[in-house]
Amino acid sequence: MSTITVDKNKCIGCGSCAAMYPELFKLGEDGKSEVISSDYSSHNYTKEEIIAICPVEAISIKD
Ligand code: SF4
Repeated sequence: MSTITVDKNKCIGCGSCAAMYPELFKLGEDGKSEVISSDYSSHNYTKEEIIAICPVEAISIKD
């Protein structure tokens, strides 16, 4: 089971992750990204592409 984590101290709330992967991320009330599902593989996303979407390297994935 994979675990996606967003480091809120790094997140700048750009919204790219939520726009590209709406099944996995949403912007929370604090304007920062929240993980809503870590099940990226069932949507045929790769770990590398998800990590690469974030401009400040706030997203990490542990399999
Ligand atoms: S892409 Fe990175 S900086 Fe932008 S909202 Fe997502 S986690 Fe935050």
